Amino acid sequence: MKYLIYNWKASLPESLDQWVSAVKKAQEKVGVSDTFCIAPPFSHIDALEKEASLQGLSYQKGAQDVSAFSKGAYTGDIPASLLKERGVVYVLVGHAERRRLHGESTEIVGKKVVEAQKEGLIPIVCVGEENIDDDLTPHINEAVSFVKKGVSMIAYEPQWAIGGSVVLDLSKIEERITLFREKLDGVGKEYVLLYGGSVSEDILSQLLCYTGIDGFLVGSASVDIKQSNTIYTSIYG
Ligand code: PEP
Repeated sequence: MKYLIYNWKASLPESLDQWVSAVKKAQEKVGVSDTFCIAPPFSHIDALEKEASLQGLSYQKGAQDVSAFSKGAYTGDIPASLLKERGVVYVLVGHAERRRLHGESTEIVGKKVVEAQKEGLIPIVCVGEENIDDDLTPHINEAVSFVKKGVSMIAYEPQWAIGGSVVLDLSKIEERITLFREKLDGVGKEYVLLYGGSVSEDILSQLLCYTGIDGFLVGSASVDIKQSNTIYTSIYG
């Protein structure tokens, strides 16, 4: 069973009802899955739920970030308890864009993981090297240390591959996934390893051949009405 996480980032589909209708059509064709999650911007968690329920779309609620604090004077932060109240199940933590643009350190990522876990949310910890030639070791070690702390979902997202339209050398991705697996398997705990970075309908069939990938975190392509349908259909078909 593959996981599919749609991360809309700070964007919305051109038309919410057409987007929901497109994914609903995919579900009618290939079936629903409880490993399918949509992470819209916080502001649209409820709007998406309303439209999905109108059209009968089934999905798990996701959030793109969580506060490192439980509550209090942290303007702009959304604590895990409030995400839980909204029915959120999965939360992205340490996404490359949060690390790069908001200065999130591994320490902050760790605090966010603890907050999510306290509330019973499932953190998806994103890790990955900044440049294509960077040493992978610190990122693998980070993933290993989070799995040791009870994180069950890791997303390997090479930062150089994120952006939606990067032309990927897929053999490199496969090689790196294998390196992550070797170390993560050694921890002896159950975990899921996702891949994210310019996943689109065009390369998905190739990525699906790699047995080391348990699912995909899809950013830019997931906002597109057509691709939201075709990607879902390829994953669950
Ligand atoms: C992401 O947002 O996690 C991501 C991988 O983005 P993109 O698919 O646009 O590269």
